[in-house]
Amino acid sequence: MKSTKREIKLCLACMEIHEVDTVEVEDTEIFKGEEVSFQAVYEYCSRSDQLIEQEEMIKANSLAMKDAYRIKVGLLTSNEIIEIRNQYGVSQKDFSEILDWGKATITRYENHQVQDRAHDAVLQKIDSDPKWFLDTLEQVKERITIKAYQKYYRIGAAQFKGKQNQYLLESIEAIYAEFENKEITGGVSLNLQKVVEMINYLASKVTSLHKVKLMKMLWYSDALHYKREGKAISGLVYSALPMGAVPEGYDQIVMLDGVEFDTVAYGDHIGYKFKPVLEFRIKELSQTEREAMDAVVSAVGELKAEEIVEKMHDEEAYQCTGKNCIISYSFSKNLSIS
Ligand SMILES: [Zn+2]
Repeated sequence: MKSTKREIKLCLACMEIHEVDTVEVEDTEIFKGEEVSFQAVYEYCSRSDQLIEQEEMIKANSLAMKDAYRIKVGLLTSNEIIEIRNQYGVSQKDFSEILDWGKATITRYENHQVQDRAHDAVLQKIDSDPKWFLDTLEQVKERITIKAYQKYYRIGAAQFKGKQNQYLLESIEAIYAEFENKEITGGVSLNLQKVVEMINYLASKVTSLHKVKLMKMLWYSDALHYKREGKAISGLVYSALPMGAVPEGYDQIVMLDGVEFDTVAYGDHIGYKFKPVLEFRIKELSQTEREAMDAVVSAVGELKAEEIVEKMHDEEAYQCTGKNCIISYSFSKNLSIS
């Protein structure tokens, strides 16, 4: 029994005025067939050796017991439910609308009523899957105010975007986990922040930066920096594909947060035209890295896609690398750009 407070007041056990302690006690109760232990709060009369449970204590102790039960059987606690709702900035009333539950259901779950498993699963899904929240929100659009809908949509969309980027980062890192050799990584670990900056930097210097050209320019930049400084810029690993060097994980890389492009139709195929994000600023790229990129921009920045492919095909690094094999940085010493 631990005392957390002591004050002189009317003691409801012996009905006299004396020092009364507020104490924390480990209680055990059986709830829904489960034995649950939890910290309960009481007042303690030392004269009669009795515990007193004030009205607000009855409420708090009951909630503590139910949360202990929730934890024991693997359900969300009342606070976790509140956090999930707050994460989307939704009111209790609107959250019940969105979930298509009874008006007071959420309010009750955030308090004393232990949620059933099906509802718990829905709440966990909403927590981990902002896309699902957005889809669900869309279905109940008519039942909440436009202003509230717009607010929830904005928050949900931002959460979704953050999650998506996290998945992308993880999937690219998984691809790169196997690459360790200096010959193929250029002696630096993958730095995706730098990769995003490189794409923006190139897009700010080159007027028509399409996919094929971007991939070649990234490779030239890394290879030239390796030639000059003995290490690459980004840590990207490139393979020799028919059109030239292509970084591993390229499809995921161009979807990262901070990479922007317009889609342009050429006859019957769609191309990406990369552009710098608004207010692009360099944070990670060093002086020598920018200088290498500037040299690449002046050497190949004006070339058409087929011309840069042709130039790549003439590089020793390309000619001496097997079809679809990883290009070694050891060829950088003979790179055509210096
Ligand atoms: Zn007393």
